[in-house]
Formats: sequence, C-alpha cells, structure tokens
Amino acid sequence: MDRSIDSLKTAIFARNAGEPEFHQAVTEVLDTLGPVLDRHPEYFELAVIHRLSEPERQIIFRVPWVDDNGHVQINRGYRVEFSSALGPYKGGLRFHPSVNLGIIKFLGFEQIFKNALTGMPIGGGKGGADFDPRGRSDREIMAFCQSFMTELYRHIGEHTDVPAGDIGVGGREIGYMFGQYKRLTNRFEAGVLTGKGMTWGGSLVRPEATGYGTVLFAQEMLRATGDDLDGKRVAVSGSGNVAIFAMEKAIALGATVVSASDSSGAVYDPNGIDVEALKQLKLVERKRVGEYVDRVGGASEALASAAALWHVPVDIALPCATQNELDGDAAAALIANGVRVVAEGANMPCTKEAADRFRSEPGVLFGPGKAANAGGVATSALEMQQNAQRDSWSFEHTEARLAEIMRDIHTRCSETAEEYGKPGDYVLGANIAGFSRVVDAMLAQGVV
Ligand code: GLU
Repeated sequence: MDRSIDSLKTAIFARNAGEPEFHQAVTEVLDTLGPVLDRHPEYFELAVIHRLSEPERQIIFRVPWVDDNGHVQINRGYRVEFSSALGPYKGGLRFHPSVNLGIIKFLGFEQIFKNALTGMPIGGGKGGADFDPRGRSDREIMAFCQSFMTELYRHIGEHTDVPAGDIGVGGREIGYMFGQYKRLTNRFEAGVLTGKGMTWGGSLVRPEATGYGTVLFAQEMLRATGDDLDGKRVAVSGSGNVAIFAMEKAIALGATVVSASDSSGAVYDPNGIDVEALKQLKLVERKRVGEYVDRVGGASEALASAAALWHVPVDIALPCATQNELDGDAAAALIANGVRVVAEGANMPCTKEAADRFRSEPGVLFGPGKAANAGGVATSALEMQQNAQRDSWSFEHTEARLAEIMRDIHTRCSETAEEYGKPGDYVLGANIAGFSRVVDAMLAQGVV
C-alpha cells in the first residue's frame, strides 16, 4: 500500500512512463494534498489517488482523410474519458501537432478538478488529434473533422461525453463535427457538443467566456486585497480566443494591455494593444501576429521571441497561449519588475519552477488555470443547460451567470486555502476544493 504522496507519485509515474506533462499535472495536484490525506487516512485504503489518476476510459483511433492534392493523410485521434463522478465527461478537443496521449491526459486530469470547482454537474475528459490545421484549406479542415467524428461519435452523447473546443478547435470545427454527428446518428442532439454557433444551439458569451473569466478571476484576487484592475498594465500571451477576450475584458475594466503573441513571435505596444485590429488579424484572417506592427504602427514593435513579452514591466501577467510557455526565468523577470497578479488563461502555462516562484513570492497573487480559466467550461455547462431547456439566454443574463460562477470559484479557493491554514494560496485552495468535491461523489458511488 502506498502510504505517502511520494510513493503514490512514483507508482503513478511508473504506470504512465514517458508522459512528462501528465507527471507535471499530477505532481502539481498531489503536492498540495498532504493536509487532506492527513485528515482522511482512509483515502489510502480506498485508493482514491490511484483511482483518480487512472482514466475511466482511453480511446485512440486512426483518422484518415484526403488532402487537397488527393493524398491520403493519417492522423491519430484521442479521447480520454477521465472521471464521470460529477457528470458526463466534459472537456475540449485540441488539434495541434504536439498532441500525444500524455498531453491529453494532463489536460483531462486538470479538467476533472477544474470542472468540479465550477460547481456544475460535469465530469472531466479531453481529446484531440496530432493534426496541424495551420495552412490547411477549409475543405481539408472539414474532411478532417468529418473523419474524426466518424470514429468519435460512438463514444459521445449528451449524457455520456460532451466535447468542445481547445487549441485549434473553434466554432468552424465544432460546426463540421456537429454536422457529421447529426448525419451519422440522425439526431439533432444539441447537447452533444458545446461551442456551437448561435443559430443552432450555441450559447452567447461562450466564445468570450474563458478570457473574460480569467480577467474576472484576476479582478477578484485584486479585490480581496482592496484593489482592482483600473490603471494596471497587463501582459497577455497568445492571440486566440482566450487571449483576445481576456484583453477585451481587461481593457473594459480600465487596464492597458501591452502585448500579444503566437507561435511565430510576440508584439509589444506600450500605448495599448488595439484589440479590434488584432481580432481581425488573428481570428478572421488567421495571419501571424507580427503583421500587427505593419498594420497598426504607432509605438508597437515586434519582440525577439514570444517569451520576451514576460520581460516587460507589468502589474499583471495573463499567460493565455499554451502549456509551459512561462518558465522560471520569465517568472523571475516578472517578479523583479514588480508583477502583482498572475492568472493562467491557458492550461498549465507556467512551468513547475515558475509556478513555485510565484507561489512563494510574498505580494504576488497566483491564480492557477484550474480556477482562473474555468469560465470557458462553466459556460459550456450553461450551454448544456440551455440545450436541455430548448432555450437561449441573453448575453447579459449569461455574462451575469459567468461572473457569479467566477466569484464563487474565487470564494471556494480562498475559503479552502484559509481552512487549511494557507490564506492566499490559490493553488492549494483550488486543488483541495476541486479534489474534495470529486472524491465525495466518487466514494458515494462505490467501487466503480
Ligand atoms: N478547452 C476548454 C478548457 O480547457 C473548454 C472545455 C469545454 O468547454 O468543455 O477548459
């Protein structure tokens, strides 16, 4: 019997060799659970950690499709159904060449606790493919999505598993996949996917929700110290849905956003990023971020690398691009330049070293992705509610619900951190609050 967190980690790593991101995500959670296991020694006999770290089901499949040159292409598709303790598996699909089983498992593992923290009835899962959408025509994207769904459809359903978007999967891809699901099943089962278009079962605010939620969470952290976003300078990385809508909300709350990035580089604009221009460039035209400088001009400049944006002095940092984009050096630079708040819009964007530095730095508030970026999946759960009711809510009502959910997540995290003697430790608060909710449900349902 594994009787310590270290022996649990050793056993889990051995069972899941060659999956560094999964190990990192497991470590991040397990390293905060000591006080819970002290209170509940029976969790060892009940193998609670082993059960939670072993997905209920892992599906790997071939995705054949034909490119515009008439060549057959093969990709590998994944769906990891991690935990259904709280509801149907819920989590996005990522299409990116870096996707492998370990990455999907890290994302799915995070998703369990994130979804629990929202207070909504959703389990945790994640999927995707090692498909690179970059440079692909619209027809190729459709061919890929249709083939992907031709296998996935048998595993999902509104009461079973409800995928959504993640990196490389937005409204267009969800549309193609929904169309194929409908054709294969002859069912207009709106609740089988979230992130749908507004005229066919989508929810207002869903595209904005992750970014808005991240900023609302940062605002809550600041409020807890009697401050707010007004007049703050903010570094944002990324330029997808999460980053762009985080920028929009930060600006609406009185902040100045000075940076954006993508996999090709970063731009810095000391007078404030023109979000409308960036939206047009990235979300509509799908061009590289560097073109922002030619288009907007002014004081904007291209930076030497995407990571260079963390070396600019700011009050708030919102990493909204991808995992492990912000390392220990970047964290040290941000701290040296006086950063006050770091909120993760992406999943695990801070390396372990960076996260440890922020957490241990007095005066820096660190909001982990599980809490700070949960607004996206929470609004997916609101989309499922609207689908079940055959209703569609107004923007104002949906945004008010999102704001309420983000406030509740903040309260859950900070109250749990206080209860366990670590006020202000949002990592510990988020992990323990999410874990406790899932474990209660899992144990109530027996050994399943
Ligand atoms: N991919 C998003 C996340 O990381 C959203 C998932 C969803 O809406 O199901 O939470």
